[in-house]
Parts: sequence; structure tokens; C-alpha cells
Amino acid sequence: MSDVHLQLSKVHRHFGEGETLVRVLEAANLTVRGGELVAIVAPSGAGKSTLLHISGLLERPQAGEVTITGVATSKLSERGRTLLRRNTIGYVYQFHHLLPEFSALENVTMPQLIAGRDQTAANRRSMRLLEILGVAPRAQHRPAELSGGEQQRVAIARAAANNPRIILADEPTGNLDPATSEVVFEALAGLIREEGVAALIATHNFDLARRANRIVTLRNGLIEDTTL
Ligand code: ADP
Ligand code: MG
Repeated sequence: MSDVHLQLSKVHRHFGEGETLVRVLEAANLTVRGGELVAIVAPSGAGKSTLLHISGLLERPQAGEVTITGVATSKLSERGRTLLRRNTIGYVYQFHHLLPEFSALENVTMPQLIAGRDQTAANRRSMRLLEILGVAPRAQHRPAELSGGEQQRVAIARAAANNPRIILADEPTGNLDPATSEVVFEALAGLIREEGVAALIATHNFDLARRANRIVTLRNGLIEDTTL
């Protein structure tokens, strides 16, 4: 079995207080290993985004431990959390957030240059990712010249640019039609297999989720495995 890249242990996350208290996570546990794609399927408001924010070190839980590539994060400083996030996590949102003035290739290359990789190595990595995701022929196009599915595949390439160990995707196909969603999901699954990344993907689309290695849902503040 491959290494555990993401582990949540007894994670609590509440919002509000008194009558307005919302208990989103109550002692939630989850383990995701390298090369494993886990889908979270749950209704709107169930806590999918909260779970992803906590897993991505964007939010702190009120209690419990989030362990990223073996590093327990609850006692890390903000600086320590930021560095760990940068080095290990790639995030994909429902909307692509690509920079409009730059080509697909440049959008994937830029985070690598910022991280200190040289231009040649960064370009090589970008082209490899765009190939895995099936959008290499579109490398020189700007986001506005790409279809929704192509934009989202470029956004996935960008999330993977700095070799993260974990990819977190929040309804990455939420804005796409069913056929395009399938292409994007398959591309993402291919990337995860190819690079041995651990992935946690929130989706409403049960047909897509069935292609994940595991399906989990959020119920009564717990993460439950519902894989059939
Ligand atoms: P999902 O992504 O599954 O739609 P969310 O994680 O966005 O669900 O939200 C889960 C619950 O937590 C919802 O009831 C939402 O209203 C509440 N919630 C999320 N963020 C906040 C916040 N910053 N303050 C108060 N309540 C919040
Ligand atoms: Mg959400």
C-alpha cells in the first residue's frame, strides 16, 4: 500500500453558537493514500467545501488533527502551514481562475517560476501536464479561446504544476455539461494515477463519483464510506 498523504483525525468544525450553531464536522476521520482518488458526494450545505478547506490548511478545525504527508499541522505556525500548503497541496475550484492575459502554457508555468524552477524545466513540466490532460494542442491559447472543459483541464494542470502530493478539487465539473464533465474527470483521474497523487474531490455527480476509488459522504458530522 502506498503512503498516507492526507489524514484527518477526530476533526471538529462548528459555525455560529447557541440557536444558530451548525455542526459541520464532529470527530470526522479520513485517510487518503497516494494514487487514491476519493470522491465526496453530499448535498449542498453538508460541509464539502469546509472539509476541503480544512484538508488544504485554509481553515483550522476547532479540534482534531490534520496530517499532511506525515506532518501533524495543529501546532504549526501560520507560516509553517503556508509553506506546507505550498509544497504539498494543489487546489482546483469550480471556476478555473486562470489569468486571462496569459496562455494556457504560461498559466501552468508561472507558479513553477515563482517556486524557483528554471524556465526550461518549468516549460517541460507544463507541457507534460497539458499532455496528460489532453490539452497540449491548446498550450498557446488564452483562457478565453478555450472551451469550459479545456479551461478546467488547464486549471488542473496548474494545480499539479509544483508536484503536489495532494489535489483537492471543489466541484471541478460543477459548471460543465455531463459529457464535458466526464472528459475532465477522466483527465484528472489519469493525472492522479500517473503521478501517484492523493485526491479528494467534491462532486454532485454520482456517475462520476463511481469512478473514484472510494466514495464518502458527510452525515451527522462524520465522514462515512459509501463505496458500493
Ligand atoms: P457544501 O460545500 O457541502 O455546500 P459548506 O462547507 O460550504 O457546504 O457549508 C457547510 C455548512 O456550514 C453550511 O450550513 C454553511 O452555511 C455553514 N458555513 C460554512 N462556512 C461558514 C462560515 N464561514 N460561517 C458560518 N457558517 C458557515
Ligand atoms: Mg461547497
